[in-house]
Amino acid sequence: MNISKVGVIGAGQMGTGIAQVCGLAGIDVLLNDVTEARTAGGIEALRRNFGKLVERRALEAEAVEAATLRISPAPDLAAFGECDLVIEAASENEEVKRRIFGMVCPHLKSEALLASNTSSISITRLAAATDRPEKFIGIHFMNPAVKMQLVELIRGIATEDATFEVAKDFLARLGKTATLSEDFPAFIVNRILLPMINEAIYTLYEGVGSVEAIDTAMKLGANHPMGPLTLADFIGLDTLLSVMQVLHEGLADPKYRPCPLLVKYVEAGWLGRKTQRGFYDYRSGTPVPTR
Ligand code: NAD
Repeated sequence: MNISKVGVIGAGQMGTGIAQVCGLAGIDVLLNDVTEARTAGGIEALRRNFGKLVERRALEAEAVEAATLRISPAPDLAAFGECDLVIEAASENEEVKRRIFGMVCPHLKSEALLASNTSSISITRLAAATDRPEKFIGIHFMNPAVKMQLVELIRGIATEDATFEVAKDFLARLGKTATLSEDFPAFIVNRILLPMINEAIYTLYEGVGSVEAIDTAMKLGANHPMGPLTLADFIGLDTLLSVMQVLHEGLADPKYRPCPLLVKYVEAGWLGRKTQRGFYDYRSGTPVPTR
């Protein structure tokens, strides 16, 4: 099966990034979000981001122009009937994702594949909420999708070999490297990375170090390209909390307990870069630590 049109549901950081990657690979994309305004906002954000990448010479202007033309807003899910593959990249909330599958499945052609970009939720459980568990797979892009080389593929218990092969070929066309993860909470990358970030937040919570000290320590002491609290803001603290909750509940091990300070930041609506405030305040243009 050749994937020539992809539908992306959720026009946030990841959905727009996935749309960019597909557009750059010459694939047509339909992008959807809850409202027409949010969908349009996603297209605008994606264009702005493309502009920055051209400025930084990370991408050629011509390639970006052609990719942009391939990405269209689709506020109505009925348009997804034309898609060969639909990737759900909405908020990390199982109920939201189940509702989306209930809304989109009736519009899909029978041979279309369905995927979720979830960071942590069981692919088998999500697949069971669709009319095509055998054509359902986890396709987990990293953030930012354009820049990051890896994509995790996660098979649910019912995912057919043919679905896996098509997904693998699709990622090869996008120029990405795929790894196969078993369907356990948070898969490979986030199973390892997110408890480390959660521990950095505990380190802050217990007063072991300031935001700046913790980030500097891990950059210069462990050679991480970005400090864990900067990375937390980049991922989004709501997403981070949801993944820790899935790990905590799914593996029933207290070592995955989300840090109470993380919960407090999310309750305050300080979700990181996407709301201009998290462990750093971005409103002045220069990140200022909030603790
Ligand atoms: P985000 O908050 O930036 O975007 C989520 C988008 O989903 C929002 O625009 C929201 O309006 C939209 N949405 C919510 N309900 C919807 C619905 N019913 N229909 C259509 N759109 C809806 O979040 P994100 O960081 O882009 O994360 C999206 C998904 O990707 C999550 O499952 C997350 O776990 C996963 N993911 C995130 C990262 C990361 O670093 N942020 C990395 C890999 C995977």
